[in-house]
Amino acid sequence: MSKHERKCEHCGEWNDVQLETCKSCGEAFNKVFRAHMAKLKKKKIFDIPLIEIKETDAPPIKILKKVVQFHQLIFYAIIGFLVYLSTSLAH
Ligand SMILES: [Zn+2]
Repeated sequence: MSKHERKCEHCGEWNDVQLETCKSCGEAFNKVFRAHMAKLKKKKIFDIPLIEIKETDAPPIKILKKVVQFHQLIFYAIIGFLVYLSTSLAH
C-alpha cells in the first residue's frame, strides 16, 4: 500500500489513484466517492439533536424548550425538503 494507490470498494484490489475505474472489476471510483459523500452530508444534517427537555426543568423552561423543539422540527423539515429537491434534480 502506498500513497498513490487506492483500494477498490467493490473488489478490494489496489489501483493507481490516476485511474477513474478499477482495473480489476471496472467499478467507477468517483461514483463510489460521490455516493459516500452524499451519505455523509445527509447524516450530518439529520444527526443534529433536538433540544432536550429534562424532568427537572421549571415549567416555563419546559414550555420554552417545546417551542424551540417545534421550530427545530420545521427547520429540519425544510432542510430535508431541500436535500430531497437537490438529489432529485441531480438525476
Ligand atoms: Zn474493483
